[in-house]
Amino acid sequence: IKRNPHETEFHQAVREVAESVVPYVLEHRQYKDAQILERMTEPDRIVIFRVTWEDDAGRIRANRAWRVQFNNAIGPYKGGLRFHPTVTLSVLKFLGFEQVFKNSLTGLPMGGAKGGSNFNPKGKSDHEVMRFCQSLMVELHRHIGEDTDVPAGDIGVGGREISYLFGQYKRLANRFVGTLTGKGLAFGGSLVRTEATGYGCVYFCRHMLEQAGEGVEGKNVVISGSGNVAIYAAEKATELGARVLTLSDSSGFVHDPDGIDAEKLAFVKDLKEVRRGRIGEYAEKYTRATFHEGERPWGVKADVALPCATQNELSGEDARKLIGNGVRAVAEGANMPTEYDGVHAFLEAGVLFGPAKAANAGGVAVSGLEQSQNALRLSWSREEVDDRLQTIMRDIHGRCVKYGETKDGPVNYVRGANIAGFVKVADAMLAYGAV
Ligand code: NDP
Repeated sequence: IKRNPHETEFHQAVREVAESVVPYVLEHRQYKDAQILERMTEPDRIVIFRVTWEDDAGRIRANRAWRVQFNNAIGPYKGGLRFHPTVTLSVLKFLGFEQVFKNSLTGLPMGGAKGGSNFNPKGKSDHEVMRFCQSLMVELHRHIGEDTDVPAGDIGVGGREISYLFGQYKRLANRFVGTLTGKGLAFGGSLVRTEATGYGCVYFCRHMLEQAGEGVEGKNVVISGSGNVAIYAAEKATELGARVLTLSDSSGFVHDPDGIDAEKLAFVKDLKEVRRGRIGEYAEKYTRATFHEGERPWGVKADVALPCATQNELSGEDARKLIGNGVRAVAEGANMPTEYDGVHAFLEAGVLFGPAKAANAGGVAVSGLEQSQNALRLSWSREEVDDRLQTIMRDIHGRCVKYGETKDGPVNYVRGANIAGFVKVADAMLAYGAV
């Protein structure tokens, strides 16, 4: 805390990992003697730079951008870029730290990183977003590469932004290589990448329920967010026979007691991905649904909750509401959406709780598969990528069970994910010696 003052999100992420990993490290002296956990909390490198761009009115604007290259012990750095006014160094350090464990859990050779800017794409024209992305890449291209660091999307960085970023990277580097993932299908993108985080989250949730002798079919599901992760989590949950009751954005949530089926979801995709509108419009179109301005969906009775919007969007109080309403499983589609006391409330109540680094690892896993396809100069079919995603999510679940089994209660997936993610990176760092 003294070394990183005011980095509250980063402290929160480290604290949650340390709670699981410290007892394990104390039982395995080789990690303690080599100070592995301490070393893992210090990023390898942070690049901070100014991004200057011109708005449509011809005014010069400036934002700050970062790339936090956290740990490359098991592979090139990999992690998304976030464009949102709430982005700070603390947020990116928490995301980069989590990414190290998540990428390790996938079983693929990927280190952890995160980056982004306090630029707000909302209300900006396509041309403004393009000029911002191109200017950002003028600096970022020096620090990334297909064997060095491979950025991807995150909040505020979707297909449009990745395309502008990759187009500029290719120009500056004069090489066509897979240095960014989440690319369009015409220029090296992978099928199923768009859907991967949401689909993967539901696959993980299904494994948790099956481990406890239940299934997804017939379950009522509450989802927050209406971005990339939320939309495809809703799609897969519906496909597997569940009923999705809610979606949200930063203006509030909509509750549809009939369920947000595939047809209604097509409306949401157009609303959020094409028109970039507000979720309240859903309740204007589907009049049995209600819009709850400024509220979050955790008071709606459900069997499964999938927080898929942003960090710290589910408090201890929200968790107690969900528990009171009989929630069975929670799988985090967003990164660190559940506050510290919320996590503990779920664990104490025996709720199956899938932490982000396990439950949302499907996105980065398919990004890893996009890198493999780029290196091979091949494109795999939709079935092949989805099969691999399902296998990866099953294996992540298995790794969590290995380290998270308890004697008398449900699997502690928080402990399981933290220790399983830690061990692979720690063993690589031990092998390297003092580096
Ligand atoms: P998008 O930008 O596509 O969507 C984000 C959604 O969350 C929007 O509905 C947005 O509402 C809402 N939201 C964002 N910030 C806030 C806030 N401060 N308060 C309330 N609502 C907010 O992002 P993604 O779906 O890609 O990402 C969502 C989460 O999933 C993030 O935590 C991200 O790190 C995580 N994640 C994403 C992966 C991916 O592959 N995309 C991979 C792994 C994790 P509005 O439209 O009003 O802004």
